[in-house]
Amino acid sequence: MSTFRSRALTETLNRNPVEVKDSNMRSENFASHVFNAQSMKQYLTAESFKGVKSAIKDGKRIDRKIADQIANSMKNWALSMGATHYTHWFQPLTGGTAEKHDAFFELLPDGTTLEKFSGNELVQQEPDASSFPSGGIRNTFEARGYTAWDPTSPAFIYGTTLCIPTIFVAYTGEALDNKTPLLKALSAVDKYATAVAKYFDKNVSKVTASLGWEQEYFLIDKALADARPDIMLTGRSLLGHSSAKGQQLDDHYFGSIPNRVMGFMRELESESIKLGIPVKTRHNEVAPNQFELAPIYEEANLAVDHNSLLMDIMGKVASKHNMKVLLHEKPFAGINGSGKHNNWSLSTDTGINLLSPGKTPMRNLQFLTFFVNTIKAVHAYEELMRAAAASAGNDHRLGANEAPPAIMSAFIGRQLTEVLSELENVTDGKLSPEEKTDLKLNVVGKIPEILLDNTDRNRTSPFAFTGNKFEFRAVGSTANCATPMTVLNTIVARQLKAFKEEVDRLIEGKSLKKDEAIFNVLREYIKDSKDILFEGNGYSEQWAKEAKKRGLTNNRSTPEAIRVKVSKEVIRLYEEMEVMNEKEIRARHEIELDEYSLRIQIEGRVLGDIALNHVIPTAVNYQNTLIENVRGLKEVFGKEFETIARDQLELIKKISGHISTITSKTAEMVEERKKANVIDDPEKKAVAYCEKVKPYFDQIRYHCDKLELMVDDELWPLVKYREMLFTR
Ligand code: ADP
Ligand code: MG
Repeated sequence: MSTFRSRALTETLNRNPVEVKDSNMRSENFASHVFNAQSMKQYLTAESFKGVKSAIKDGKRIDRKIADQIANSMKNWALSMGATHYTHWFQPLTGGTAEKHDAFFELLPDGTTLEKFSGNELVQQEPDASSFPSGGIRNTFEARGYTAWDPTSPAFIYGTTLCIPTIFVAYTGEALDNKTPLLKALSAVDKYATAVAKYFDKNVSKVTASLGWEQEYFLIDKALADARPDIMLTGRSLLGHSSAKGQQLDDHYFGSIPNRVMGFMRELESESIKLGIPVKTRHNEVAPNQFELAPIYEEANLAVDHNSLLMDIMGKVASKHNMKVLLHEKPFAGINGSGKHNNWSLSTDTGINLLSPGKTPMRNLQFLTFFVNTIKAVHAYEELMRAAAASAGNDHRLGANEAPPAIMSAFIGRQLTEVLSELENVTDGKLSPEEKTDLKLNVVGKIPEILLDNTDRNRTSPFAFTGNKFEFRAVGSTANCATPMTVLNTIVARQLKAFKEEVDRLIEGKSLKKDEAIFNVLREYIKDSKDILFEGNGYSEQWAKEAKKRGLTNNRSTPEAIRVKVSKEVIRLYEEMEVMNEKEIRARHEIELDEYSLRIQIEGRVLGDIALNHVIPTAVNYQNTLIENVRGLKEVFGKEFETIARDQLELIKKISGHISTITSKTAEMVEERKKANVIDDPEKKAVAYCEKVKPYFDQIRYHCDKLELMVDDELWPLVKYREMLFTR
């Protein structure tokens, strides 16, 4: 056997689970490494504590003197926890997280040392981060992006470093990260949702968006992953014949978790708990070696930070356990890929979930208001929602009959469908007392307080109402949740603003009562946005046809899907909601296109290398053995040999056929890549990569996978699917 593969397999077979001390997975350790309200109270003066509190609640600026005090206390806390360094922790547009560590330690002129951390260093930094993608906003001559403290996400200690969550913006003010637009979208939805919530309760003064993500991932042995150049360099397998046993038997889903994996999960959870990530559920997923982890939902900004942090922790913990986490949306062909459901809701500072029905008709009218407005927003911006989940990796899932299709639709369940169809018949204008009573008792009053068991039955929907929240299921497993959360909160904010204006117009212009006006506007919205509602099988071909008739878009590839992000309407949306300006929007679009092209380019190169340097030489090698064999048979059997060696001769020919197709297809792919590379326009280049280069991947793969089935297992150089996918 090829030494590389056999060494990896031997290493794997000899593994024992790494021992884990489980003592941290207890609630008393929760957030022990976070500078949260509890630790702040202990370390801050009353005055500074008040300063931080109001910065968190009302976005008030913290003055320098107080910043100094906070920095000093934060440093003392961090040193007491064994930290030696600090970093501004941010989320550049590469999608990951970035950090640059500085020591607290300072050398004085007289040679003595001092531990120092000032308010300035806490509040703002200028990392030399000019190599992050900026889509041309920041040319390298004035590479003065700076990071600024986000007090709404608490500082934490990761390893021996104090991490301070920050935004990352250009010197000229444009956002260079994922957090800045998210914070603005959250503030827009707060503003307009609060205004609408006041119709129902004057005491509401703040609305917060919540996010509960569910992270899916694959876990495979590190030695095996390291022995696959495609997995190492692209995060997914570019070839490999499917295993005879895959997920057909459904025996992995919710099955018992293998010991080694359990060790990894326990340590991952205890690390997460220390850092205040409220991880709660873990289970096996559908595909072999696929798992899921979900926390309790949190305020959206914090939840986004926690998901980014978690993805980082996963990699570190896995490597301790001699495993590798694959976050890619489609690491293996033929079995399910991974997503990241984004569960979203809005709640008030009076403790009400606006997407949860209640006991009274008034509560239910409030619920219907936010429910219908969300549907209306998703209908109006269905293409942007699709774009929010677009990435080269996620293109393998959306529309591939295992994840929601590339068509946006909303599933709401039978009961709410009935409620909406009754609301559609509400009389125009003023309502008679009987009509009002009927509406309150028989329509609004009929919504049960708990809808949970009536919903969540349709796994094929990209946007499903699941009892007291909407679940955006199209999001890919590698995504930074800031992107979908920015879109969803912005479109809902914009919609609620329009709703408030229309209701007020009816109250003032037509002297309708408040609830009459609300019923009237909701009725129109239900009529307008019906086309986005779909309860059937989202994987079916009929749905694709039906959706087309309804005018819903079906953008299957990333370059096509993200075009809408620079449309006039979307630019107006973001500018009106003060989330991003046109320059920022265009820069992001360009960065996404570049990233797409680069990913396909890298995959193409790696596939070419493997095909030419691993697969073909191995096939030739095996063919030579067959030729030797045929020669021998001829010597021994003389004339008779042709019948005796018939199958071998056939095999030799087949192998030649595959070899020559792989060779010619690879050469053609390289030609197309060369053509794509000289295209200057980022969109045209991405389209060329998508339409001209990528189609070769499946063709080349097909022939490589055929060879894998023919060539002697002993000779095959690449670790096989069946070897990677069944960790004990
Ligand atoms: P599943 O989708 O696997 O059936 P659940 O629906 O129970 O799982 O929960 C999935 C995620 O939704 C969890 O992270 C949970 O914390 C989150 N969640 C539950 N309620 C809300 C809510 N009101 N707002 C946002 N997220 C929520
Ligand atoms: Mg879910």
